[in-house]
Amino acid sequence: MFVDNILNCVILGSGPAGYSSAIYAARAYLTPILYTGMEPGGKLTTTTCVDNYPGYPEGINGSKLMEKLEEQAKRFHTIIKKQEAVYFEFSTSHKMGVIHQIKNDYGNIIKTRGLIISTGTTPKYLGLYSEKRLIGFGVSSCATCDGFLYRAKNVAVIGGGDTAIEDTIYLSKICAKVYLLVRRGYFRASKVMQYRISILSNVETLFNYEIAEILGDKTVKGIRVVNNKTNKKKFFSIEGLFLAIGNTPNTQPLKGKLKMDDKGYILTEKVSTKTNTQGVFAAGDVQDPIYRQAITSAGTGCMAALDLERYLSIVK
Ligand code: NDP
Repeated sequence: MFVDNILNCVILGSGPAGYSSAIYAARAYLTPILYTGMEPGGKLTTTTCVDNYPGYPEGINGSKLMEKLEEQAKRFHTIIKKQEAVYFEFSTSHKMGVIHQIKNDYGNIIKTRGLIISTGTTPKYLGLYSEKRLIGFGVSSCATCDGFLYRAKNVAVIGGGDTAIEDTIYLSKICAKVYLLVRRGYFRASKVMQYRISILSNVETLFNYEIAEILGDKTVKGIRVVNNKTNKKKFFSIEGLFLAIGNTPNTQPLKGKLKMDDKGYILTEKVSTKTNTQGVFAAGDVQDPIYRQAITSAGTGCMAALDLERYLSIVK
């Protein structure tokens, strides 16, 4: 229901958190409008098989899962717009409670009483000059998007978390050889993932190694790496370099407008999705530096819709 063209529920982001909050908000007759952002479906669309989302005993392709969530949100009449929010003006007082204004990338101003932010995170890069020059020419942060380009070639993966191992497993099925470079002396990844790569014959894991330089004029031809304990240097001839070194929360346009931690994750009140601004809630990876799973994102998306519904019933 709209009040003076003021919406009740705007959702930003189209990952599991965004769609789950849309499903709950729509079923509560809050008439949600969901802005997908620049990457409809979010990070899961770059994953091949999601094995750990309950209800899919055989696993499900990441893009397929997101299509199903979108379909479910649409079934309850969520309006989905392939647009991005670029500017926020919070806390404008109004007789109907606090009204928030959002500008989208078309320059339109949207007014809403309730806002759910589920904009997710973006992959990190190393910050080397050679890396910047070669992004898209051998340097990638998405193994499942670009892995097929390196069929029967040598590649390297950087990182010691679950993403690095998942990428390594994926690439080991396509590439001749995968070097996995971990900067510490141990993995951060879960034990089950560590076991999975330990049995792959074309994967070589190197602990305590960091990249000194990425070589190649137009495309990646190799990497120089250095052992951060012994200073021993090595060279690997590779054509693809995959970065799996974590993520940055997509909160840039919200800086200074909502409380965040030092990494830019939105801070929410304990056991809720409430931010420090009335009527604004955060769900999914954008507020979760710890769990960051599809299922926890979906869970907090549900919480955000319930929190918003309760908030609107109080301020009415
Ligand atoms: P993580 O933050 O868990 O791991 C990042 C890795 O990158 C760490 O090993 C870190 O090293 C390393 N790193 C960071 N910066 C650099 C750098 N500049 N140079 C070299 N190495 C660097 O991120 P992930 O994306 O792997 O995982 C995020 C979350 O998602 C986790 O909770 C994970 O469990 C989950 N996940 C689960 C999956 C599943 O269950 N199938 C699949 C993928 C992710 P250091 O340890 O030294 O900081």
